Parts: sequence; C-alpha cells; structure tokens
Amino acid sequence: MFLRHTPTEVVERSALTINPAKTCQPIGAMYAALGIHNCLPHSHGSQGCCSYHRSTLTRHYKEPVMAATSSFTEGSSVFGGQANLLTAIENIFTIYEPDIIAIHSTCLSETIGDDLGQITNKAAEEGKVPAGKHLVYAHTPSYTGSHVTGFSNMCHGIVDHFAECTARRGRHVTIFPGWVEPSDMREIKRLAAEMGIATVLTPDTSDVLDAPMTGKHRMYPKGGTTIPELKRMGDSVYALALGEWASTAAATRLNAKCGVPFQVMDLPIGLRATDRFIDMLRRAGDVAVPASVTDDRGRLLDLMTDMYQYLHGKTVALWGDPDHLLPLAEFLLDLNMVPKYMVSGTPGKKFMQRLDEMGADIKAQNGPCADMFLMHQWIKNEPVDLLMGNTYGKYISRDEDIPLVRCGFPILDRVGHQYFPLVGYRGAMRLVEKMLDAILDRKDRDAPEESFELVM
Ligand code: SF4
Repeated sequence: MFLRHTPTEVVERSALTINPAKTCQPIGAMYAALGIHNCLPHSHGSQGCCSYHRSTLTRHYKEPVMAATSSFTEGSSVFGGQANLLTAIENIFTIYEPDIIAIHSTCLSETIGDDLGQITNKAAEEGKVPAGKHLVYAHTPSYTGSHVTGFSNMCHGIVDHFAECTARRGRHVTIFPGWVEPSDMREIKRLAAEMGIATVLTPDTSDVLDAPMTGKHRMYPKGGTTIPELKRMGDSVYALALGEWASTAAATRLNAKCGVPFQVMDLPIGLRATDRFIDMLRRAGDVAVPASVTDDRGRLLDLMTDMYQYLHGKTVALWGDPDHLLPLAEFLLDLNMVPKYMVSGTPGKKFMQRLDEMGADIKAQNGPCADMFLMHQWIKNEPVDLLMGNTYGKYISRDEDIPLVRCGFPILDRVGHQYFPLVGYRGAMRLVEKMLDAILDRKDRDAPEESFELVM
C-alpha cells in the first residue's frame, strides 16, 4: 500500500499540490525543439534542470535526448546568466554544429529576469551566430502552466522566428500536431498524404524519438521539420492547430505574421474528433475523402459494435493533458462508457467549460491543485472500473486494485506509445483494444471457474 496515508476526506486546498498531474514547462519546450531538424535544445539554467528534462524525455521515449545547458553557478544565479549563455552559444555552434539552437528558460533564469530576446540579439551582434544558423527561444517559467505551456511557448517561438510569407500562397496545409507521440505525428502525416494533401508538420518528432537502430549514433536524427519547411509555413493555404492548449499560440502567431487562416481543433483522438479532423482536412485541401480512410472508419465502427457489451457502463478515471482528456472523454461517451473523474494539472478555464458542453456528469478539476492525491481521494470514496493516464497512476492502480491503461505523458514503465498511434481511426482501434485487454484480463482473473469463458 504505497498510498495508504491518502485520507478519504477531501479538504479544500488552495496552495498545496500533492503528486501533480503535470510536469515542468521546459520539458515541453525541449520536446518541441527536438521536432525541428538539426536543432539542439538548450536549457538556460542549472545543470540539474537540464538533467531532469532530458532524463524524463529519455525515460519516456527510450531514446538518447541531446540538449545543452547554461550550467548556472552561484555567480550566474546572482548576476544573471547572460555570460554563460553567450559562451554556450559560441561553444555549441563550434563543437556540436546544429543549424538551430532552441533556448528555453527555467525557474531560476526567470526569477533572475534574464531576457532571452536581448541575449540572443547580443549574440548575433557579437558574431556568435554563424551565417545560416539560427537561435530561437521561449520563456518557460515553470512556476506557472505545465509542460504543455512550455511546448506551446516553444512552438510560438519557432513560428515567430521562421515563418516567411512571399507573394505566392501555396496549396500546402500547416499542421501543428500538438503534444502527441512520434507515432501520432507519423499517423497524422499518413492520413493527410492519403488524402493527397501536402503538409508542413511543426514540430515533427517522428524519425527523431522513434529513430531506427542503425548501429551508428546520430547527434541529429534524420527526422524533424526542416528550415525550408518552417519558412514555407508562412505561405500555407491554411493551418490546423490540433489541441487548444498546445497549438493555439503557434497558429495565432502564424496568422498575425503571415495572414494564414487557421482552425483550432481537438486532437483527433476517437471517432468524432477524427471525423472533424478529416472533414477539416478535406475542406482545407479541397479534396475528397478516399475510400481507404472511410474503410478505416468502418473498421473502427465494426470493432466498437462487436465489443460494446464489455465496455458499456464501465466507469473510468482519467488524468493528463487537457488536449488529450477532452477528445478521450468524448470517445468514452461514444462507447457508452462513463468518464467519472478527471484531473489535469494544466490550467485553463476552457477545460471545465468544454466538459460542461459535453453534457456528461464528470467530476473534474484542472489547475495546480488538481493532482493525483485528489484523484485518489475521489476513487477511495467511490471506485471506478478503469484508470487511464500516465505512469504516475500505477500506485493508485496497485493500491485500489483497478486496471490501468497507460496513455499520455510520461509513460516510464512500458513501451509502445512511441511506435503505435492513438490518433485517427487506427489509433482509436488501438485505444479500444487496450481498454478491452485491461477489462477482459480483469474479468478473466476474477471469474469463478464455472463462468471462466474461452470465447468472449
Ligand atoms: S527548477 Fe523549475 S525548470 Fe528546473 S526542473 Fe524544477 S520545475 Fe523544472
């Protein structure tokens, strides 16, 4: 009983978070930067922060994550980190030869008040940025927001620096995929290609954090959005921002800078959210939906219909990022399941508003005090049939003997999320498969001998 001290009585809290349902801003900024080709993320703060960000991403993706740090000492903590960052920029371009350094701040550099815009301008003026090389940056104070905010801020910084508008509007669509797995980014690109739509996906971590084993270490894997692609965003015919929390800032900046019209949408998780995504792609690209995509949808419907009796009425507790939770809740409702509890450490008023609009009776909370402790208290008072969320739920799963389906970030103790998508119709089929496996395994485990079934 790891969490045996969790009391059942829920007490109102305003200034204490216990086991947060989020992680820190720079992790998101680092993840976004890894989705840019030949880009080295740089953490402007202490070595400890950078180690934490890298190790969390490495543990989730099971891939080496390269990043540099300003390595603050006591001196830089008092006098500011400008000198460290200027030296780092020079060293990184000389030794590691990236095309881009993507700099994010940390709690410490934010508290000091380091201005990354001013420091990067100074680096350029002093000739520390070689011709054809780039510095992008994002302020990511981790005492506000979450890893999703950091991801969003870095995407905004990337658009701000690179998007260029020429007089020639192209036919391609820019897609901001939001914080999803490399496998999901690959699936989003596959769906768009299947529909005959040229896209620029920003960022794109496929072939970076799911790169094949070749026997040779590549400092910069072959994937990631390239600089020409980043520039071409400005000439897109349309932009789709998938995930309100992760992608709105980038799409809004692209619109302000280059006039590219955009639509903010849910991540295409589940049946209806994927329907909306496909329909929007169809309209943005002025194409017809091919039979192969319609067939994928039909297969998902077939699976949902075949197995609904095992899912019907099952209660679920979920935690994670709002961009994942909202379409996931909608999908559970489509499966006649009951999303009962939901917490997200990522703040934002729209979360509760969107849940209200769904019309479901979900006990939910988001923001700093919406943590795993609160989720455990709710479950202790009234249990659920299934847990869905990141690895941090495994303690509740063990203590309360409730099956856990791992999804979201981070997943530190299983693999698969890097390679098999959860977005699109195929991703929704995998979600159903994962939920069924968990529920049917439990049913088998608990069945008395006389009702232990071979066929289900
Ligand atoms: S100090 Fe701030 S930026 Fe550094 S690891 Fe902790 S929360 Fe993240």
